[in-house]
Amino acid sequence: MLLRILRHPDPCLARPALPVKRVDAALRQLARDMAETMRHAKGIGLAAPQVGVSLRLAVVDLDPEAHRPVTLVNPVITRLSRQKTEAEEGCLSFPGLTAPLRRAARAWVSALDLEGQTVEWSAEGLLARAFQHELDHLDGTVFLDRLSPTARREADRKLESP
Ligand code: ZN
Repeated sequence: MLLRILRHPDPCLARPALPVKRVDAALRQLARDMAETMRHAKGIGLAAPQVGVSLRLAVVDLDPEAHRPVTLVNPVITRLSRQKTEAEEGCLSFPGLTAPLRRAARAWVSALDLEGQTVEWSAEGLLARAFQHELDHLDGTVFLDRLSPTARREADRKLESP
């Protein structure tokens, strides 16, 4: 089922999400719907607050053709590399907007999967960036909040005059 993706500045996007208490059939269904919604919107990541659900759940899929999304339940970043990389970043809640953003080049993430098992991820490149972006959503942070002052001014200008 396709879900409605909330757009900035919906207040749900600024609210820290609550921990998932049970990995059950309802959560698995939500994760499937989120993955379908993400694919349909041609995104590579989607967090539950973006579909109006305040839970610490996110899906990431760098290769939508493969239909094998990574699902992160109650994820935490355990380590970030000091080395950073800059890339153009976008967000399904900010259609049409991209901005250059520096993030850690590598990220180590611990999360539950849809069986409730702990999975440790060691990610680099685009996957590390997507993990950091989606985990930010779970804390009520959007990529706009992380831009340099210059990039932020440019982004605000684009948001005002689409
Ligand atoms: Zn996003």
